[in-house]
Amino acid sequence: MLIDVHTHITDKKFDEDIEEVIENSNCAVIINNGMNVEDNRKTIELGKKFSKVKVALGIHPYDIVKMDEKDIEAEIKFIAKQKIIAIGEIGLDFTYEEKEKQIKYFKEFLGLAKKMDLPVLVHSRKAEKEVVEILKEKNMKKVVMHCYCGKLEVGLEAEKLGFYFSIPPRLITNKEFQELVKKISITRILTETDAPYMGAEKGKRNEPGNVKQTVRKIAEIKGMSEEEVENSIFMNYQKLFS
Ligand SMILES: [Zn+2]
Repeated sequence: MLIDVHTHITDKKFDEDIEEVIENSNCAVIINNGMNVEDNRKTIELGKKFSKVKVALGIHPYDIVKMDEKDIEAEIKFIAKQKIIAIGEIGLDFTYEEKEKQIKYFKEFLGLAKKMDLPVLVHSRKAEKEVVEILKEKNMKKVVMHCYCGKLEVGLEAEKLGFYFSIPPRLITNKEFQELVKKISITRILTETDAPYMGAEKGKRNEPGNVKQTVRKIAEIKGMSEEEVENSIFMNYQKLFS
């Protein structure tokens, strides 16, 4: 029962072989995270076509920066009317400009998640501290920190707040992810791929089938069997998403 809680298989890189990618993944659940107006529509279509693909909708901070406020508001209204499993991808990315605009809409999405009683899948590049502070201030309970790359102490603060961490295959080659997995309780860990990004090897297309590699590495770090890790992650998934 492998789980990929954060992926972008609506990316062009999967146009040729999307069916094989999904079928060969061995994942019971693949949550595709919409990033913008077009991608949200593609995500909904993919969810209709494949039963194991679950739909999360949001606007990535990269797109928040580029979009008109009017269009952002319209998309939030659209998302509020859809049947979805989570709100995402949302968050803050301070490698981009317009911090105020990003914060404004991040908060608006958190309000929507609360209203719909759904988990949030959160991007937090170079803004981890701000993200955790806002989530705390908004009293968010169902949170997945996706590809968390911030300071360990901020990560541990997020763990204390009851947030989950979704770990990508990059874990295999990245010391920071390994350190995070060592310190965070197995009861707070989920798997993701962020496909086509965040594979073990930079620049190579990542896909949901690689979740198995992440489970193997987590088992090694935690001194657990792969089966135990797989079961724990499945239980964490069920607890958060149902
Ligand atoms: Zn992502």
